[in-house]
Amino acid sequence: MTEKLSTDLLEKFEEVKANYNVITENIARAAERAGRKAEDITFLAAVKTVEPAVINYAVSLGVRHIGENRVQELLSKYEEYNLNDCDLHLIGHLQTNKVRQVVGMVSMIQSVDSVKLAKEISKQSEKNNVTTDILLEINIGREENKFGILTENLDEILENVSKLNNVRIKGLMAVPPVCDTKTDVYKFFDNMYKLFIDISDKKLDNVFMDYLSMGMSGDYQEAIISGANMVRVGSALFGARIYR
Ligand SMILES: *Cc1c(COP(=O)(O)O)cnc(C)c1O
Repeated sequence: MTEKLSTDLLEKFEEVKANYNVITENIARAAERAGRKAEDITFLAAVKTVEPAVINYAVSLGVRHIGENRVQELLSKYEEYNLNDCDLHLIGHLQTNKVRQVVGMVSMIQSVDSVKLAKEISKQSEKNNVTTDILLEINIGREENKFGILTENLDEILENVSKLNNVRIKGLMAVPPVCDTKTDVYKFFDNMYKLFIDISDKKLDNVFMDYLSMGMSGDYQEAIISGANMVRVGSALFGARIYR
C-alpha cells in the first residue's frame, strides 16, 4: 500500500489492539476458572460492518477465525480478506437459495437450522468437491423472532443431516436471548452445554461435537465458564458498529 494510512485508521488499529489484549486476557481468565486452557478456546472475530483493512489488522494480531453474517457483505469483502492466516465462517442466517454463493469460500457455516438447508449445502459442496463443516444453530431461548432449531427437533435433524455425504456436523451454535441478569444468561449457556454433552455421549455416526459456539461481546466470559469452546466477539474488539 503506497498511500499513507489515515489517522482514523491508525487510531482504529490502536483501539483494536488494546481491545484484543483485554479480550485475550479475559478469555484466559475465564478458561482458567472453568478448569480449561486458553488454547482450547477458539476466538472468532465477528466482522459485520468492519472494513477489510481493520479485519486484516486483527488477523495480524493473531485472530485466526473471522465470521460474517450476510452473504452479500461476505462476497463484497471476500477479495480483501487475508485468508492465508485465518478461516472464514458464516455465522448469520443463510437462505437456501444463497448457499451456492458461499460453499467453497467459507470453512464453516455456523447457522444451519434445517434439514433442507443442510441438504442444499451438501449438494453444492458435492458439486464443488468439498465437504463443508457446519454447526447446528439452536434456538435455546425458544424465541419466535429468531432462527434456530428447537431442542425437541434436534434428534431428528441430527439423524437426517448426519446422513448427508458432503457436510460434517462439527458442533452447536447459539445466540441466547438478551438477559437482564447474569443468572439468566448462565441458564441458557448451561442448557446449551448439557445438550452438547448429551449429543457427544451418544457417539452418533458422522456427528462430531468439537465446537460449542456461544458467547458474544457482553457475555463471552460467562459462555466459557459454562463450557463454550468458541466465542464470537464483534463490538468488544472493533468498537460499536456503524451501519451504513
Ligand atoms: C454480531 C454477531 C456476533 C457478535 O456480536 P457482538 O455483540 O458485537 O460481540 C456474534 N454472533 C453473531 C451470530 C452475530 O451476528
